[in-house]
Amino acid sequence: MALIVQKYGGTSMGTPERIKNVARRIAKFQAQGHQVVVVVSAMSGETNRLIGLAKEIQAQPDPRELDVVVSTGEQVTIGLLCMALINMGLKARSYTGPQVRILTDSSFTKARILKIDEDRMRKDLEEGSVVVVAGFQGVDDAGNLTTLGRGGSDTTGVALAAALRADECQIYTDVDGVYTTDPRIVPEARKLDTITFEEMLEMASLGSKVLQIRSVEFAGKYKVRLRVLSSFQDEGEGTLITFEDDIKMEQPIISGIAFNRDEAKLTVLGVPDRPGIAYQILGPIADANIDVDMIIQNVSHDGTTDFSFTVPRGEHDRALGILEGVKAHVGARELRGDRSMAKVSVVGVGMRSHVGIASKMFRTLAEEGINIQMISTSEIKISVAIDEKYLELAVRVLHKAFELDQVPA
Ligand code: ADP
Ligand code: ASP
Ligand code: MG
Repeated sequence: MALIVQKYGGTSMGTPERIKNVARRIAKFQAQGHQVVVVVSAMSGETNRLIGLAKEIQAQPDPRELDVVVSTGEQVTIGLLCMALINMGLKARSYTGPQVRILTDSSFTKARILKIDEDRMRKDLEEGSVVVVAGFQGVDDAGNLTTLGRGGSDTTGVALAAALRADECQIYTDVDGVYTTDPRIVPEARKLDTITFEEMLEMASLGSKVLQIRSVEFAGKYKVRLRVLSSFQDEGEGTLITFEDDIKMEQPIISGIAFNRDEAKLTVLGVPDRPGIAYQILGPIADANIDVDMIIQNVSHDGTTDFSFTVPRGEHDRALGILEGVKAHVGARELRGDRSMAKVSVVGVGMRSHVGIASKMFRTLAEEGINIQMISTSEIKISVAIDEKYLELAVRVLHKAFELDQVPA
């Protein structure tokens, strides 16, 4: 008998019929003698609808109240799923995040899980119940409702699996595993049987929304056995996130391509080239809690330099406002903002032992006339910032150039 945590995403919970399907799948696992804890998302589109409603009342919704509103989506689906299970003759009990007591910090809309009380869930499991927990939400020390950021139900799932020391955490979604890239963009993308934890961490942080980054971090920290599978197929092993780099002796050089449309670039032109400039520009941006990603500063000939960096697109206006204040202070000539940036990254642990990956990437993009505006690298990834209008083309040509559509020999 195993203890399994299963997480079902919004598409899988999208209609009453699909909820009944999920219930049938859970019943099958229970019939095999397993204990099952289920984490669910809101019905697809519901979280967006709730955010839209909030914005009709308040253009910049109060974060505490926004969490009160958006956390309702998951309260609906836990109840509906339990009804479906009870209808099938199973014992089932639903809990919101606060009811379990998923304790988080107080960063509304992006809270971090600090502690999970497992007692209540254990007791129900021992009594033969399926435990159904609302994803994406928790409660802070003062009793305020909190949410974990978009896609946060993945993190609830993995965190519960860690707390309960589950045998496996299964993330059921609308694709049958982790692919070499988003199959919606590249139909030739291939499903991976395994992907290393480090690669998955990079893919998630570089924009592959199949798993929320924090869920992968949790899996790494607590060594949770994590698998991504389809809720629409009965067969298939999905993709297992592996911890041993050496599972296959020969790793593919590139495992996948990640991308993110949601970028903006800010440039400060004609800044005096002297020590402390980067700090004077980026210090106030950091103080405003804006994440800076790529940074570039060119060589100066006339004693001035141009300084560019990228931020999430939603922060473009706020960052530009802050730079207005910085401009006079550092004596810059001009500010520019570009909201239509995208980032494309190739990821693979095999990069550690191979050279020439960057040049192949740059050549492939050059052949399509795609201009690279910024570059950043780490041991296992290379990212480039490009104009968003070339994003899909870039992903497709890179996928082909690195032969990701071919089954590795
Ligand atoms: P859920 O609602 O189940 O949480 P998401 O929409 O958050 O589902 O995540 C699944 C989606 O992630 C897929 O439909 C797919 O379009 C997208 N995706 C992006 N990159 C990848 C990838 N490398 N492999 C698989 N799916 C990916
Ligand atoms: N419902 C939330 C969202 O849409 C959480 C999740 O689905 O993971 O972001
Ligand atoms: Mg998701």
